[in-house]
Amino acid sequence: MKTFCILTVLTLLGTCATPKYTTKIQNLKDSIQLVDSINVVKYANTITTEELKKHLYLFSSDDFEGREAGEKGHIMAADFLKSYYQNEKIESAYGADNYFQTIPADFFPHHDKSSDNVLAFIEGSEKPDEVIVISAHLDHLGIEDDGQINNGADDDGSGTVAIMEMAQAFNKAKQEGNGPKRSILFLHFTAEELGKKGSEYYTMYPAFPIENTVADLNIDMIGRIDDLHQDNKDYIYLIGSDRLSKELHYISEKVNETFFNINIDYRYNVEGERNNYYSRSDHYHFATKGVPVIFYFNGEHADYHRPSDTPDKIDYPLLQKRARLVFATAWQLANQEHRVILDKNNELLK
Ligand SMILES: [Zn+2]
Repeated sequence: MKTFCILTVLTLLGTCATPKYTTKIQNLKDSIQLVDSINVVKYANTITTEELKKHLYLFSSDDFEGREAGEKGHIMAADFLKSYYQNEKIESAYGADNYFQTIPADFFPHHDKSSDNVLAFIEGSEKPDEVIVISAHLDHLGIEDDGQINNGADDDGSGTVAIMEMAQAFNKAKQEGNGPKRSILFLHFTAEELGKKGSEYYTMYPAFPIENTVADLNIDMIGRIDDLHQDNKDYIYLIGSDRLSKELHYISEKVNETFFNINIDYRYNVEGERNNYYSRSDHYHFATKGVPVIFYFNGEHADYHRPSDTPDKIDYPLLQKRARLVFATAWQLANQEHRVILDKNNELLK
Protein backbone atom coordinates (compact mmCIF):
# COMPACT_ATOMS: atom_id res chain seq x y z
CA MET A 1 0.00 0.00 0.00
CA LYS A 2 2.74 2.37 0.99
CA THR A 3 4.61 1.59 -2.21
CA PHE A 4 1.49 2.16 -4.23
CA CYS A 5 0.97 5.67 -2.75
CA ILE A 6 4.54 6.72 -3.41
CA LEU A 7 4.34 5.51 -6.97
CA THR A 8 1.09 7.38 -7.48
CA VAL A 9 2.56 10.62 -6.18
CA LEU A 10 5.63 10.22 -8.37
CA THR A 11 3.47 9.50 -11.38
CA LEU A 12 1.39 12.60 -10.75
CA LEU A 13 4.46 14.75 -10.28
CA GLY A 14 5.89 13.28 -13.44
CA THR A 15 2.87 14.06 -15.56
CA CYS A 16 2.53 17.59 -14.22
CA ALA A 17 6.12 18.80 -13.99
CA THR A 18 8.06 17.04 -16.74
CA PRO A 19 6.39 18.31 -19.91
CA LYS A 20 6.82 21.91 -18.90
CA TYR A 21 10.56 21.57 -18.38
CA THR A 22 11.07 19.40 -21.44
CA THR A 23 9.14 21.91 -23.53
CA LYS A 24 11.48 24.68 -22.44
CA ILE A 25 14.51 22.57 -23.24
CA GLN A 26 13.04 21.59 -26.60
CA ASN A 27 12.42 25.25 -27.41
CA LEU A 28 16.01 26.02 -26.50
CA LYS A 29 17.30 23.18 -28.70
CA ASP A 30 15.06 24.28 -31.57
CA SER A 31 16.40 27.84 -31.30
CA ILE A 32 19.96 26.75 -32.14
CA GLN A 33 20.85 27.27 -35.77
CA LEU A 34 24.29 26.24 -36.90
CA VAL A 35 26.01 28.87 -39.01
CA ASP A 36 28.14 28.51 -42.07
CA SER A 37 28.35 24.71 -42.21
CA ILE A 38 30.35 24.53 -45.41
CA ASN A 39 33.12 26.80 -44.16
CA VAL A 40 33.35 25.17 -40.76
CA VAL A 41 34.03 21.82 -42.39
CA LYS A 42 36.48 23.33 -44.85
CA TYR A 43 38.59 24.98 -42.16
CA ALA A 44 38.22 22.19 -39.60
CA ASN A 45 39.77 19.91 -42.23
CA THR A 46 42.97 21.99 -42.17
CA ILE A 47 43.59 20.55 -38.67
CA THR A 48 45.53 17.43 -39.59
CA THR A 49 47.19 14.48 -37.88
CA GLU A 50 50.45 15.26 -39.68
CA GLU A 51 50.72 18.80 -38.31
CA LEU A 52 49.48 17.87 -34.83
CA LYS A 53 52.11 15.14 -34.71
CA LYS A 54 54.88 17.39 -35.99
CA HIS A 55 54.08 20.06 -33.38
CA LEU A 56 53.68 17.58 -30.54
CA TYR A 57 57.00 15.79 -31.11
CA LEU A 58 58.70 19.18 -30.85
CA PHE A 59 56.62 20.54 -27.97
CA SER A 60 57.02 17.43 -25.80
CA SER A 61 60.63 16.78 -26.70
CA ASP A 62 63.36 16.42 -24.08
CA ASP A 63 64.69 19.84 -25.14
CA PHE A 64 61.93 21.51 -23.12
CA GLU A 65 62.87 19.55 -19.98
CA GLY A 66 59.32 18.88 -18.90
CA ARG A 67 58.25 22.55 -19.09
CA GLU A 68 58.20 23.27 -15.37
CA ALA A 69 56.83 26.77 -14.70
CA GLY A 70 59.63 29.28 -14.22
CA GLU A 71 62.37 26.92 -15.43
CA LYS A 72 64.49 27.04 -18.59
CA GLY A 73 62.44 24.43 -20.42
CA HIS A 74 59.22 26.35 -19.85
CA ILE A 75 60.82 29.55 -21.13
CA MET A 76 61.90 27.66 -24.25
CA ALA A 77 58.39 26.22 -24.70
CA ALA A 78 56.83 29.68 -24.37
CA ASP A 79 59.32 31.01 -26.94
CA PHE A 80 58.45 28.10 -29.23
CA LEU A 81 54.78 29.14 -29.14
CA LYS A 82 55.61 32.79 -29.67
CA SER A 83 57.74 31.95 -32.72
CA TYR A 84 54.95 29.80 -34.09
CA TYR A 85 52.40 32.61 -33.88
CA GLN A 86 54.83 35.11 -35.34
CA ASN A 87 55.58 32.81 -38.28
CA GLU A 88 51.86 32.25 -38.82
CA LYS A 89 51.30 36.01 -38.64
CA ILE A 90 48.83 35.64 -35.79
CA GLU A 91 48.94 38.65 -33.50
CA SER A 92 49.29 38.92 -29.77
CA ALA A 93 46.51 40.18 -27.52
CA TYR A 94 48.89 42.89 -26.32
CA GLY A 95 50.12 44.13 -29.68
CA ALA A 96 53.55 44.20 -31.34
CA ASP A 97 55.62 41.17 -30.40
CA ASN A 98 54.36 41.01 -26.84
CA TYR A 99 52.83 37.55 -26.57
CA PHE A 100 53.54 37.04 -22.87
CA GLN A 101 51.65 37.87 -19.72
CA THR A 102 54.31 37.70 -17.05
CA ILE A 103 53.23 36.46 -13.66
CA PRO A 104 55.50 37.65 -10.84
CA ALA A 105 57.35 35.09 -8.75
CA ASP A 106 55.52 35.99 -5.55
CA PHE A 107 52.25 34.82 -7.06
CA PHE A 108 53.53 31.23 -6.98
CA PRO A 109 53.66 29.37 -3.68
CA HIS A 110 57.12 27.96 -2.87
CA HIS A 111 58.62 29.21 -6.14
CA ASP A 112 61.04 32.01 -6.70
CA LYS A 113 60.76 32.55 -10.45
CA SER A 114 58.28 34.43 -12.58
CA SER A 115 56.59 32.65 -15.47
CA ASP A 116 54.56 33.57 -18.56
CA ASN A 117 51.14 32.85 -20.00
CA VAL A 118 51.24 32.99 -23.82
CA LEU A 119 48.44 34.81 -25.65
CA ALA A 120 47.67 34.94 -29.36
CA PHE A 121 44.68 36.74 -30.77
CA ILE A 122 42.48 37.00 -33.84
CA GLU A 123 40.27 40.06 -33.84
CA GLY A 124 36.62 39.59 -34.75
CA SER A 125 35.28 41.29 -37.87
CA GLU A 126 31.91 42.41 -36.45
CA LYS A 127 31.97 42.12 -32.67
CA PRO A 128 35.64 42.46 -31.79
CA ASP A 129 34.94 43.30 -28.14
CA GLU A 130 33.33 39.92 -27.52
CA VAL A 131 35.99 37.28 -26.98
CA ILE A 132 35.92 33.48 -27.14
CA VAL A 133 38.80 31.93 -25.18
CA ILE A 134 40.34 28.63 -26.26
CA SER A 135 42.78 27.50 -23.57
CA ALA A 136 45.23 24.79 -22.54
CA HIS A 137 48.17 24.77 -20.16
CA LEU A 138 51.69 24.74 -21.52
CA ASP A 139 53.53 23.84 -18.32
CA HIS A 140 54.18 20.38 -16.94
CA LEU A 141 56.09 18.65 -14.15
CA GLY A 142 59.74 19.19 -15.15
CA ILE A 143 62.49 16.68 -14.41
CA GLU A 144 62.33 13.90 -11.79
CA ASP A 145 65.02 13.58 -9.13
CA ASP A 146 66.45 10.60 -11.04
CA GLY A 147 66.76 12.70 -14.20
CA GLN A 148 63.75 11.38 -16.10
CA ILE A 149 61.93 14.05 -18.06
CA ASN A 150 58.18 14.45 -17.78
CA ASN A 151 57.44 15.10 -21.46
CA GLY A 152 53.74 15.71 -20.88
CA ALA A 153 52.69 14.79 -24.40
CA ASP A 154 49.07 14.24 -23.45
CA ASP A 155 49.21 16.55 -20.41
CA ASP A 156 48.90 19.02 -21.95
CA GLY A 157 50.90 18.91 -25.14
CA SER A 158 47.76 17.53 -26.80
CA GLY A 159 45.73 20.61 -25.86
CA THR A 160 48.59 22.93 -26.78
CA VAL A 161 49.06 21.63 -30.32
CA ALA A 162 45.28 21.50 -30.82
CA ILE A 163 45.21 25.24 -30.11
CA MET A 164 48.11 25.88 -32.49
CA GLU A 165 46.19 24.15 -35.27
CA MET A 166 42.91 25.89 -34.44
CA ALA A 167 44.62 29.28 -34.52
CA GLN A 168 46.07 28.47 -37.93
CA ALA A 169 42.63 27.39 -39.20
CA PHE A 170 40.89 30.54 -37.95
CA ASN A 171 43.68 32.66 -39.40
CA LYS A 172 43.41 30.99 -42.79
CA ALA A 173 39.66 31.63 -42.69
CA LYS A 174 40.32 35.28 -41.91
CA GLN A 175 42.81 35.64 -44.76
CA GLU A 176 40.22 34.24 -47.13
CA GLY A 177 37.51 36.66 -45.96
CA ASN A 178 35.79 34.18 -43.63
CA GLY A 179 37.24 35.34 -40.33
CA PRO A 180 35.32 35.01 -37.05
CA LYS A 181 32.80 37.75 -36.22
CA ARG A 182 33.77 37.68 -32.56
CA SER A 183 37.40 37.70 -31.43
CA ILE A 184 39.28 34.56 -30.44
CA LEU A 185 41.96 34.45 -27.76
CA PHE A 186 44.33 31.48 -27.87
CA LEU A 187 45.49 31.23 -24.31
CA HIS A 188 48.35 29.00 -23.12
CA PHE A 189 48.55 28.96 -19.34
CA THR A 190 51.61 28.51 -17.20
CA ALA A 191 51.53 26.89 -13.75
CA GLU A 192 48.43 24.72 -14.06
CA GLU A 193 50.47 22.03 -12.38
CA LEU A 194 51.21 24.41 -9.49
CA GLY A 195 47.50 24.79 -8.74
CA LYS A 196 46.00 26.52 -11.78
CA LYS A 197 47.97 29.69 -10.99
CA GLY A 198 48.31 30.88 -14.61
CA SER A 199 44.56 30.92 -15.16
CA GLU A 200 43.94 32.36 -11.72
CA TYR A 201 46.24 35.25 -12.59
CA TYR A 202 44.76 35.72 -16.04
CA THR A 203 41.21 35.95 -14.69
CA MET A 204 42.40 38.49 -12.11
CA TYR A 205 44.20 40.56 -14.75
CA PRO A 206 42.51 39.66 -18.05
CA ALA A 207 43.66 41.06 -21.37
CA PHE A 208 39.99 41.68 -22.17
CA PRO A 209 37.26 42.34 -19.60
CA ILE A 210 35.80 39.18 -18.09
CA GLU A 211 32.28 40.51 -18.77
CA ASN A 212 33.15 40.53 -22.50
CA THR A 213 34.49 36.98 -22.34
CA VAL A 214 31.80 34.89 -24.01
CA ALA A 215 33.03 31.40 -23.09
CA ASP A 216 36.15 29.39 -22.34
CA LEU A 217 36.74 26.12 -24.18
CA ASN A 218 39.51 24.51 -22.16
CA ILE A 219 41.44 21.45 -23.26
CA ASP A 220 43.49 19.39 -20.82
CA MET A 221 44.47 15.98 -22.28
CA ILE A 222 42.70 14.91 -25.49
CA GLY A 223 45.26 12.61 -27.15
CA ARG A 224 44.79 9.31 -25.30
CA ILE A 225 42.24 6.66 -24.35
CA ASP A 226 41.46 5.76 -20.74
CA ASP A 227 40.77 2.27 -19.36
CA LEU A 228 37.02 2.73 -19.57
CA HIS A 229 37.04 3.21 -23.35
CA GLN A 230 39.53 0.67 -24.67
CA ASP A 231 36.78 -0.92 -26.78
CA ASN A 232 35.15 2.33 -27.84
CA LYS A 233 37.83 4.93 -28.34
CA ASP A 234 35.74 7.43 -30.28
CA TYR A 235 34.76 9.37 -27.15
CA ILE A 236 35.57 12.43 -25.11
CA TYR A 237 34.55 13.56 -21.65
CA LEU A 238 32.88 16.94 -21.50
CA ILE A 239 32.63 18.64 -18.15
CA GLY A 240 30.84 21.84 -17.20
CA SER A 241 29.04 22.54 -20.47
CA ASP A 242 25.58 22.82 -18.91
CA ARG A 243 26.44 24.49 -15.62
CA LEU A 244 26.02 28.16 -16.56
CA SER A 245 24.56 28.09 -20.06
CA LYS A 246 22.38 25.26 -21.34
CA GLU A 247 22.52 27.02 -24.68
CA LEU A 248 26.27 26.38 -24.73
CA HIS A 249 25.62 22.73 -23.86
CA TYR A 250 23.12 22.23 -26.68
CA ILE A 251 25.30 24.12 -29.17
CA SER A 252 28.11 21.75 -28.28
CA GLU A 253 25.79 18.75 -28.70
CA LYS A 254 24.44 19.95 -32.03
CA VAL A 255 27.88 20.69 -33.45
CA ASN A 256 29.00 17.21 -32.48
CA GLU A 257 25.90 15.45 -33.84
CA THR A 258 26.07 17.37 -37.10
CA PHE A 259 29.75 17.01 -37.91
CA PHE A 260 31.46 14.39 -35.75
CA ASN A 261 29.26 11.96 -33.82
CA ILE A 262 31.84 11.44 -31.10
CA ASN A 263 30.43 9.64 -28.05
CA ILE A 264 30.28 12.39 -25.47
CA ASP A 265 30.70 10.95 -22.00
CA TYR A 266 29.24 13.16 -19.27
CA ARG A 267 29.91 10.90 -16.30
CA TYR A 268 32.41 13.34 -14.79
CA ASN A 269 30.02 16.24 -15.19
CA VAL A 270 27.67 14.92 -12.49
CA GLU A 271 27.69 17.37 -9.61
CA GLY A 272 29.31 15.82 -6.56
CA GLU A 273 31.25 13.30 -8.69
CA ARG A 274 34.13 12.21 -6.49
CA ASN A 275 37.00 13.17 -8.84
CA ASN A 276 35.63 16.71 -9.06
CA TYR A 277 37.36 17.35 -12.40
CA TYR A 278 35.16 20.41 -12.88
CA SER A 279 37.35 22.28 -10.43
CA ARG A 280 40.66 20.72 -11.49
CA SER A 281 41.75 22.53 -14.62
CA ASP A 282 42.06 26.10 -15.83
CA HIS A 283 38.49 26.66 -17.02
CA TYR A 284 37.40 26.68 -13.38
CA HIS A 285 38.61 30.23 -12.78
CA PHE A 286 36.45 31.43 -15.66
CA ALA A 287 33.44 29.52 -14.36
CA THR A 288 33.74 31.03 -10.89
CA LYS A 289 33.62 34.46 -12.53
CA GLY A 290 30.42 33.61 -14.40
CA VAL A 291 31.93 32.73 -17.79
CA PRO A 292 30.43 29.52 -19.25
CA VAL A 293 33.01 26.81 -19.94
CA ILE A 294 33.50 23.45 -21.54
CA PHE A 295 36.31 21.24 -20.33
CA TYR A 296 37.51 18.62 -22.88
CA PHE A 297 39.28 15.65 -21.32
CA ASN A 298 40.19 12.06 -22.20
CA GLY A 299 40.40 10.82 -18.59
CA GLU A 300 43.41 9.50 -16.77
CA HIS A 301 45.64 6.62 -17.92
CA ALA A 302 48.65 4.65 -16.71
CA ASP A 303 51.10 7.32 -17.96
CA TYR A 304 49.28 10.25 -16.34
CA HIS A 305 51.83 12.45 -14.50
CA ARG A 306 54.67 10.07 -15.31
CA PRO A 307 57.76 10.38 -17.52
CA SER A 308 56.11 7.79 -19.77
CA ASP A 309 53.53 10.34 -21.07
CA THR A 310 55.34 10.51 -24.42
CA PRO A 311 54.27 11.54 -27.95
CA ASP A 312 54.55 8.04 -29.47
CA LYS A 313 51.58 6.98 -27.32
CA ILE A 314 49.20 9.63 -28.66
CA ASP A 315 46.36 8.53 -30.95
CA TYR A 316 46.74 11.23 -33.60
CA PRO A 317 43.56 10.57 -35.63
CA LEU A 318 41.62 10.80 -32.37
CA LEU A 319 43.43 13.98 -31.37
CA GLN A 320 42.59 15.42 -34.78
CA LYS A 321 38.89 14.61 -34.46
CA ARG A 322 38.63 16.01 -30.95
CA ALA A 323 40.50 19.19 -31.93
CA ARG A 324 38.12 19.63 -34.86
CA LEU A 325 35.16 19.32 -32.45
CA VAL A 326 36.53 22.14 -30.29
CA PHE A 327 37.23 24.21 -33.41
CA ALA A 328 33.72 23.80 -34.81
CA THR A 329 32.19 24.66 -31.42
CA ALA A 330 34.32 27.81 -31.21
CA TRP A 331 33.35 28.68 -34.79
CA GLN A 332 29.66 28.58 -33.85
CA LEU A 333 30.20 30.67 -30.71
CA ALA A 334 32.20 33.22 -32.67
CA ASN A 335 29.83 33.51 -35.62
CA GLN A 336 26.26 32.96 -34.42
CA GLU A 337 24.09 36.05 -34.34
CA HIS A 338 23.74 36.44 -30.58
CA ARG A 339 26.27 35.97 -27.83
CA VAL A 340 25.65 32.68 -26.04
CA ILE A 341 23.16 33.30 -23.23
CA LEU A 342 23.56 32.46 -19.55
CA ASP A 343 20.64 30.46 -18.14
CA LYS A 344 19.79 33.21 -15.67
CA ASN A 345 19.15 35.58 -18.60
CA ASN A 346 17.59 33.09 -21.00
CA GLU A 347 13.93 33.88 -21.68
CA LEU A 348 13.39 30.45 -23.18
CA LEU A 349 14.09 28.86 -19.79
CA LYS A 350 11.74 31.12 -17.78
ZN1 LIG B 1 46.89 18.96 -17.33
